[in-house]
Amino acid sequence: VRIVNQSGRLGLVTDSGILDVAEASEGRFDHDIQAVYPQWDKFRQWAGPLAANSDAGVAIPVEPQKLGPPVPRPAQIFAIGLNYREHAAESGLDLPDTPMVFTKFPACVTGPYDDIVAPPGEVDWEVELVAVIGREARHVPQDRAWDYVAGLTVGQDISERVMQVKPPGPQQFSLAKSYAGFAPIGPQLVTIDEYDDPDDVGIECFLEGQQMQKTRTSDLIFTIPQLVSHLSGVLPLLPGDLIFTGTPSGVGWARKPQRFIQPGEVLTTVAEGIGEMRNRFVAATVAT
Ligand code: ZN
Repeated sequence: VRIVNQSGRLGLVTDSGILDVAEASEGRFDHDIQAVYPQWDKFRQWAGPLAANSDAGVAIPVEPQKLGPPVPRPAQIFAIGLNYREHAAESGLDLPDTPMVFTKFPACVTGPYDDIVAPPGEVDWEVELVAVIGREARHVPQDRAWDYVAGLTVGQDISERVMQVKPPGPQQFSLAKSYAGFAPIGPQLVTIDEYDDPDDVGIECFLEGQQMQKTRTSDLIFTIPQLVSHLSGVLPLLPGDLIFTGTPSGVGWARKPQRFIQPGEVLTTVAEGIGEMRNRFVAATVAT
């Protein structure tokens, strides 16, 4: 099953286009995609047969420019640092023996084709596979963790490196990664049964068409089931929560010479089975 948030309405992706879920379900499911996650199991039961049926109803074409984030208002966003060996090495840091966790504040979520304002400083990319929670999760064992995941999408953990790590200020991981628009996700949410192996998904990103990062999630140090188990042992994970699973090597501040995103540049993000995001960076405008 694949879902999108097109023109602010939950859409089920079928072979012939997008089915408007509120209409096709006669209001059983809301048009607001955020409302589907607390009803995820019921939605899956309803959507499964329809997704496979090309005559399911009036299908709307996919219009990428109208796609919003598949999870516009998550209650919580967890992000994992240093979850690929080569990225830890390029950062000059030792591999952690437990996941290194920070947050991106939820109001920084944006859509897969939205412009992003580049604040002053050193704005950097971090392609990451993103897991979306589909059931409240407390103390979930690893071997049952996938049952708590609604599906996968792809995201960018956009980061402003000066605020994040540079002296003389204190390190500010969460705030430096939470400027408005710093968490583009999309273009769709894909359930894990669509994958032969959901622990092995290819992700990559390009700045101005030049490949900057490329990996497979089979290289993750802490897998999605391990992260769900670990995090849910600390606090409840709620339907619609996001887990940004970590970025591979190839970020701008570790390159020689360093490379940061400039206004006018386009960041393209691709994930196997999920599709492509294209986000253009724009200069901050002065309030008048
Ligand atoms: Zn990251």
